[in-house]
Amino acid sequence: MENSPHAIISPEKEVDFLIIGQGVAGTFLARALLERGRRIIVIDDAQRSSASRVAAGLLNPVTGMRLHLTKGTSEFLACAKSLFSRLEREHGQTLFTPIPVRRIYVSVKERELKVLRAAKPDYATLMSADDAPGSVNAALHGNTLDDAHGSFLIHGGGWVDLPRLLDLEHAWLRQHSAITEGAVQLEELRHDGSGGVLWNGWCARYGAVFCNGYKAGITPCWDWIPWRPARGEIVDCESTVADAPWMLNRNGWAVPLGNGHWRSGSTWEWNATRFDDAPSPALAEQLRKRLQGFFKTPVDARLVSQRTGVRPCVLDNQPFCGTHPQLPWLHLFGGFGPKGVFWGPSCSNDMAAWLCEGKPLPARFDLRRAWHGK
Ligand SMILES: Cc1cc2nc3c(=O)[nH]c(=O)nc-3n(C[C@H](O)[C@H](O)[C@H](O)COP(=O)(O)OP(=O)(O)OC[C@H]3O[C@@H](n4cnc5c(N)ncnc54)[C@H](O)[C@@H]3O)c2cc1C
Repeated sequence: MENSPHAIISPEKEVDFLIIGQGVAGTFLARALLERGRRIIVIDDAQRSSASRVAAGLLNPVTGMRLHLTKGTSEFLACAKSLFSRLEREHGQTLFTPIPVRRIYVSVKERELKVLRAAKPDYATLMSADDAPGSVNAALHGNTLDDAHGSFLIHGGGWVDLPRLLDLEHAWLRQHSAITEGAVQLEELRHDGSGGVLWNGWCARYGAVFCNGYKAGITPCWDWIPWRPARGEIVDCESTVADAPWMLNRNGWAVPLGNGHWRSGSTWEWNATRFDDAPSPALAEQLRKRLQGFFKTPVDARLVSQRTGVRPCVLDNQPFCGTHPQLPWLHLFGGFGPKGVFWGPSCSNDMAAWLCEGKPLPARFDLRRAWHGK
């Protein structure tokens, strides 16, 4: 023991896993591991590059121009909602706001696509019949929706207050002495020779899990994964449209926060050359106008705040989870792209089962799908 690196570790700094980052990935995985009785320490660099704090937290089952429904959607939604209601009970605070999405058709072609989709049972339960142009204005307090081709509702979703959730979970982890501030660099992690890692006086017997969002893509041991980081912005505005009973969606979205406050998003910058979090005034103006553009009546929208972050997107739009094929003491939990709230809760259970019980990960999430040697 004298010559072992463990000799210098105090027992209270010995854990099973070291988790790098407390965005949604690190937060949900920390929960799943603690529930399995594992000892963990989360190291977070004060959320300096957290996409999770920028995200609108939308949980929308049917997304994109193609009205896409991901395989297993009902299970992912059920798992996410069950986690959020458990956290709400535990913290005594509202975190999830269920609210339908009003999808406004951009064209006749899109309406035809919806008819095709609605013929399938899994879609049919989530989508309402069409509402004719001009027929839903009664809910808009004297304003008029710009819905020349009509609209319909997508049920089953809502939005999560992620900054609040992360703050509450941070405090909860702190109470359990399971989080500390720091920035972990790959070269500082030392293999202990028996499957664990050593970092800054900590020893994690079963290794370190990278939950560092898009920065995993610039961490050399994970650079073989087909990352496609995408910078994005959202804004909050104060508007003369007091409220609405649905989120609005047409080439972007707007979420009613109540009392004339709206969140509008989001922008997409692929191959962005700047991954800093300096907001762009031009993009804020674009999003403010987008909010106004949902209505035919002229509405005021005053910019209140703006947030910017980088989505950890990947080529095949599926999470990347698992253990490094050559460095078995290093693990990755990420690649959630634009859907951290959708993937995170369910995948954290899969990842914890893999780490603790060796239960194979679903092949579509297993990071080995991209490994061709290095
Ligand atoms: C504009 C925008 C809108 C979005 N809207 C939605 C939405 O509506 N719904 C949805 O589900 N998703 C949305 N997303 C995507 C969502 O934000 C991501 O999928 C999710 O937050 C990724 O979580 P993560 O924990 O993997 O990464 P992050 O949230 O980036 O967390 C990584 C954490 O690790 C920390 N860290 C990084 N490096 C280190 C280090 N070396 N040492 C210690 N700590 C480190 C960071 O500071 C951060 O706290 C949006 C993203 C953006 C940018």
